[in-house]
Amino acid sequence: MGITNYIIEHLDEALQQGWIQVYYQPVIRTLTGEVCGFEALARWIDPQVKFLPPNSFIPVLEQSRQIHKLDTFILHSVCQTLHERQEKGLPVVPVSFNLSRLDFEMTDIFAGIEETLREFDLTRDLLHVEITESLFAEDLGPIRKTSEALRQAGYQVWMDDFGSGYSSLNVLKDFSFDLIKLDMEFLRHFTENSRQIITSVVDMAKRLGLHTLAEGVETREQADFLFSIGCECLQGYLFDKPEPLEKAIACMQQQGRAWEERKNIHYYNAAGMAIHQTDSSLALVEFSGNREKTYHFLYANQAFREELISFGQHLHTIEQMINENKNRDARRLYEFFYNANLTGHKETEFFVSGTHYLRVQAQAVAKVENNTIFTTTVKNIQLDRDYREQDYLDNNLRRLYTLYNVIDLVDLEQETIETIYGHGRLAKYVDRRVRNLRQAQEVFCQHCIYYKDQARYRTFVRPETIKQRLAASEDGVLRNYFRTLSKPGEYRWQEHTIMLVPGSKQKQHLYLCKDALPDGVGPHLVACPDTVEAPSAREARLLWENQLAYSGFAFFWKDNKRRFLGASRSFLDYFGVTLQDILGKTDEDMGWHIDETPYREDEERILNEGVYIENSANQCIIRGVLHRITAFKHPVYDNGKIVGLAGMFFDVDQVTRTSKEISHAAYEDPVTNLMNRRGFLAALLSYQEQALLQKQPFTLIVLNNENYSRTISSYGRAISSELLQKEADCLRRVAGKNSVIARMSAGIFTVLHFSSRKDNEPLAFSLKKALEEIHEVKGNSVTLRIHLSLVDNEEADITAENIYRIALSRLS
Ligand code: C2E
Ligand code: CA
Ligand code: CA
Repeated sequence: MGITNYIIEHLDEALQQGWIQVYYQPVIRTLTGEVCGFEALARWIDPQVKFLPPNSFIPVLEQSRQIHKLDTFILHSVCQTLHERQEKGLPVVPVSFNLSRLDFEMTDIFAGIEETLREFDLTRDLLHVEITESLFAEDLGPIRKTSEALRQAGYQVWMDDFGSGYSSLNVLKDFSFDLIKLDMEFLRHFTENSRQIITSVVDMAKRLGLHTLAEGVETREQADFLFSIGCECLQGYLFDKPEPLEKAIACMQQQGRAWEERKNIHYYNAAGMAIHQTDSSLALVEFSGNREKTYHFLYANQAFREELISFGQHLHTIEQMINENKNRDARRLYEFFYNANLTGHKETEFFVSGTHYLRVQAQAVAKVENNTIFTTTVKNIQLDRDYREQDYLDNNLRRLYTLYNVIDLVDLEQETIETIYGHGRLAKYVDRRVRNLRQAQEVFCQHCIYYKDQARYRTFVRPETIKQRLAASEDGVLRNYFRTLSKPGEYRWQEHTIMLVPGSKQKQHLYLCKDALPDGVGPHLVACPDTVEAPSAREARLLWENQLAYSGFAFFWKDNKRRFLGASRSFLDYFGVTLQDILGKTDEDMGWHIDETPYREDEERILNEGVYIENSANQCIIRGVLHRITAFKHPVYDNGKIVGLAGMFFDVDQVTRTSKEISHAAYEDPVTNLMNRRGFLAALLSYQEQALLQKQPFTLIVLNNENYSRTISSYGRAISSELLQKEADCLRRVAGKNSVIARMSAGIFTVLHFSSRKDNEPLAFSLKKALEEIHEVKGNSVTLRIHLSLVDNEEADITAENIYRIALSRLS
């Protein structure tokens, strides 16, 4: 019997007997070297004819119209494997699998994939579909339709073997994909020509918004080249051949490669897309804010390295300089990135290095939790303009710039201000195009001047009196000292100078700002009237002692390690503890919260960044009872430095009870602005009243996203909240005005609507459908699995007390 016939006749048996196996070949993320996926490839290991390569049995199965059996089997097996790993709590990464034309013609492959996904409880980002280019070339109706449907549903569709056929470019024009897989033929003859072609293809793909993967990578040289041109993913024998999963895993472990975490997929995808072909310098810098703050180059093109060399630096020396953060330039660079992170705009800063004058630009392009990736360029302007012969004086004058933190040019008649030099700290607050002098002054005062110095500062910069004061001064210069924000959470004494610009007929002056004195030494202040009379020391002490004992406010203060230093009597009473119980302890030590993360994160931000926390809703456990509180916290400064934090909180229930008013906050879910559980209960009672009075039935619809906890564990709180907001918007839109919508807890939403259960079924299903159509949140893939139930008040034994419980028990 020929091998062809053998294959045709033994496929079913091979599938049943386990002769067909899935081999996995890892896909590597160039930016990190991590394993970001696997490709599933079929192997036929026959007891009789031994090892059959796919190229021998795939065409045969296509011809005999049986390939869909194989592909369904592979899909099933991949999903089962993913499921098992997930159940065991082992890491998973997406797996791509191959489809043939007949899969589209002989089966409803879309439905098959969806069903299998459901069966194994997976999210859609775990499966990518590879369709070979030649299939698309023929523009077959079913393929187009299905690949669109897959993308719509939130799967990635990859074009396999790109460049192998004749119509690659046409296909790109007519179909949409997420990624193109460069055919390995490109690498087979690794010539200058093929390098050029690969470079253009990768660049073109990026312009079209497509990710790129190169297959058949066999040498380090090829990998380095593909990295240098910004190809995002690599696959090939250099890393590993296709193998049984356990072997592939072991091989990756041996190479020291971690598996990419789900939350980082979008992050590195976005960063990878920011690399493009350019003659200018381009680098990616990653800032990891988690533990020690560190900057790290993920990528730098040749031009970037050459710019660095032009002033005697290298990637690692720059990296070391920023991270050690010792000298002035390092601090400025550090702060420059910090600021670019805040604004999200492209920021520019100038530096002087030796006799060189450098322009650095940076823009944040990807963020996840406390990590940010920036695109960065550096340009040696001096070289650029061939200023090598620049005279000595000019070079040295230019250095003077760097003595200052800020140099502004102020026009008193136009009332405008222009930043000539300095950090764009205020970009977050002021639209710099407006350049309105008074607005800029006030914003600067509020955000950058220590509160104790603000009154003096306002007097100092008052435009009305500047001319007069300058005229009265001896040298045409006004000087004063203010504690000025020099990095997040730290104020330092800085000298502020207002100086006339010669020849501007007193219309323009320069505003200069520089570090005044070593830390901790306050300079002699130039007299300036304080506006508010401070209480005397005795008065202050009296007030404080009385506040502590009698105010009825629960407040506390802590050191910079978040350990309690003290608290008011109300605070101690509220928790039923003594001062001794809490001194030197953190909230975690006390075990007051169900979820400590939000507390810790808030307080760390206060200590590190000097932020204020207002009305942050939380829960804490007091003698076994859960209380909802809302907290206000702020940093405690000592001489401009944060030494701890202080705060106070209110028990929301107590406040609302005593005020006897319906407080909105108590009934509202702060994340979605929908009603919360309490609001829902109130609404439910009104519905029931109406139902009794008007003999009008109402229905409760409960929608629960079973995958909610998965979203939290993959992406964290911030993204999960974004998802809930998206869901809430979707429910508002679909449920319309005459429904009451609430979020009960986690991912559970309820909708109350008049009319019977039967009448509400269409609404309930459209709500479910609309929610399940949410596939991404801020670029991250999510899969919602909505369980639904409906109960109406006319069913037997339904009361306002049990309706929600019964609805929960019916979720399916
Ligand atoms: P493909 O999808 O282009 O798969 C890549 C092929 O290149 C695989 O061959 C893989 O083993 C091989 N390869 C990977 N890295 C390297 C490398 O560095 N150098 C070289 N020279 N080769 C490398 P394989 O597994 O023999 O598969 C051949 C083709 O069979 C696949 O090409 C795919 O079109 C098809 N195929 C494999 N499994 C399935 C399947 O489950 N369903 C369908 N419909 N087709 C499949
Ligand atoms: Ca493939
Ligand atoms: Ca391929």
